[in-house]
Amino acid sequence: MDLILIGPPGAGKGTQARWLVEAQHLPQISTGDMLRAARKAGTPLGQQADGYMNAGQLVPDAVVVGLVAERLREPDCAGGFLLDGFPRTIPQAEALDAELARHGRKVEHVVALEVPDQAIVRRLSGRRTCGACGRIWQLEFDPPPSPVTCACGGALAQRDDDKEATIRNRLEVYHGQTSPLLEYYERKGVLRRVAGEGKPEEVRRRVFAALGSK
Ligand code: AMP
Repeated sequence: MDLILIGPPGAGKGTQARWLVEAQHLPQISTGDMLRAARKAGTPLGQQADGYMNAGQLVPDAVVVGLVAERLREPDCAGGFLLDGFPRTIPQAEALDAELARHGRKVEHVVALEVPDQAIVRRLSGRRTCGACGRIWQLEFDPPPSPVTCACGGALAQRDDDKEATIRNRLEVYHGQTSPLLEYYERKGVLRRVAGEGKPEEVRRRVFAALGSK
């Protein structure tokens, strides 16, 4: 199964992706996670991406496309994959189609998580990540033991790009550059729209139902 998750920042792509890869035994390819890891490691790629990420802007297509194409050629992707946070522009989607076509494959399932902007701002401004175990919390909807401490004892931090001004930029980028992908995949007949509001477990049921599994 080749699967793509699309949605505005904070739509719950990461959470749903984790459940999907577990159930479908797929490798999860998250460009956001890959870029954050490169930034943390201080690689040239990470340094190049840093400014864009902090501003809530997209990293140039050529950079991300190269990163994903390389990852898709690894053996664990031969039986399928889940892409989370990629593609985010029409040129990225076209590059992905071309890369898959080279291997006689095509995008089969695209799940779009739909969440209104107002709910996104509320969700993201309360998102906290544990520096030790990576667990993601939400101060209002999925509260940690304390606003600064994870259940594992690690310290919680807010992503730099989860500050309100940057969230607004990211939403603008989503509506301007990423949402045209919905029509792109709708035309190909592979898009499934899922309401992303409500508890993560409820959204999970809708996502799995949209894919025809439990
Ligand atoms: P995410 O964790 O998916 O919200 O990604 C965090 C940031 O990484 C985004 O705001 C972008 O700056 C960058 N990024 C992640 N995926 C992509 C992509 N497919 N194309 C361009 N930039 C990306």
